Amino acid sequence: MTRPDRVLFAISDTGGGHRSAAIAITAALQLVSSREISCEMLDVLRITNFPFVRNAPNLYDQLSTRWLPLYNLTFEVTNGIRRVDVLSRLVYLQARRNIARALQSFNPDLVVVTHPLVYRLVRAARRTHRLSYRIVTVVTDLVTLHASWTHPDVDICLLPTDEAYTLMQRQGLSPSRMRRTGFPVHPKFAHYTQGQTESRHELDVDPARFTVLVTSGGVGSGRMHDLVLELERVYPETQFLVITGKNRTLQQQLLARRRSPHCHIFGFVQNMETLMAASDIVISKAGPGTLMESFVMRRPVIVTEAVGAQERGNIDFVLNHELGFYCPTTERIVDAVSELNNSDYYQATVNRLAVAVPRHGAEQIAQILLDQLSQTDRPAEYRRRPQRTPLRRWGRALRRGIRQRPSSETRL
Ligand code: UDP
Repeated sequence: MTRPDRVLFAISDTGGGHRSAAIAITAALQLVSSREISCEMLDVLRITNFPFVRNAPNLYDQLSTRWLPLYNLTFEVTNGIRRVDVLSRLVYLQARRNIARALQSFNPDLVVVTHPLVYRLVRAARRTHRLSYRIVTVVTDLVTLHASWTHPDVDICLLPTDEAYTLMQRQGLSPSRMRRTGFPVHPKFAHYTQGQTESRHELDVDPARFTVLVTSGGVGSGRMHDLVLELERVYPETQFLVITGKNRTLQQQLLARRRSPHCHIFGFVQNMETLMAASDIVISKAGPGTLMESFVMRRPVIVTEAVGAQERGNIDFVLNHELGFYCPTTERIVDAVSELNNSDYYQATVNRLAVAVPRHGAEQIAQILLDQLSQTDRPAEYRRRPQRTPLRRWGRALRRGIRQRPSSETRL
């Protein structure tokens, strides 16, 4: 019996987007492939055991909810290819055993990287231990790409927008190593078949009321509390579906207040597609995952803020393609809800969405992964001969000498 192909998703749980992308691609692989593929996920930063880096998921939660300027400063200070190379080497020195052990135990045919800080680590492990997996990088930012996404020797890099493709090209990545795909949105969004009314029934909310979804990434960051209260005050007849994600404090604060009967508070949800289908518009921070999911569901968005410098370009994406509004203050968000409630403007935005955003990015990516899995040649660096150090040269000479010594039969 042949062993199933093995795909390892190298991620880190900083925010919800990198894991969501990996889950989306896993689901798409199951849709498009007729053969069995075994998929697993590995939070590579967690296993580095390197101070701060191993705590990246918790640090991201803290920084993005409380210390955003410090997060942005870290982004700027590390945003250079040389700097990332040096930092990655440092981390790899400490992490190499753990990473190699994890990779060797899963023994993947293909590693799919959905987090920028992880690429250099899995590549270094491949080189040091002469492992033969191919690496596909799936970029999960739309426009502002941190330098860690860029590596001139990347096997193949998949980019979600024309903007990201052009930027990578400008940074010197060869077009032969790049593909422009859609964003890895879970196929459950594009394949969702229920109408708006049915979705509202499923959620047990008012089926006929204009409905606004308020969300802010996996960790529920930003200024959601005051925003929800103001929206409720100005629009008492509008229905709000508020997703607080992993932010328990925010959920409890909102639940503790006396709320309008049309405001529903959800914690971390697993059925984002139903909540989006039930809504007319989505208010969100500029998280690429949530934005793209809304666009695939053809819902206009109101973007409240960029949580982290890497999300800034996502605002440009929304504005350049006219897919919604960017409203950095509560007053402007409140005004934008009225503007989108205008049916002509609403329909025009939905029409633009159909042109600007492909719906089946994850399936497109899955097809490319299948193609990579079917290739039989090893990665270039695997084929490259190891460097000839004096010790290696002596070892080779000795082995050659032993092989060339005539056997006892020949001597007789
Ligand atoms: N998400 C979810 N349940 C929640 C909140 C968020 O499944 O309760 C998902 C959301 O659908 C999206 C991801 O988490 O796929 C958030 O990604 P995004 O890029 O928007 O922000 P991040 O959390 O990475 O900062």
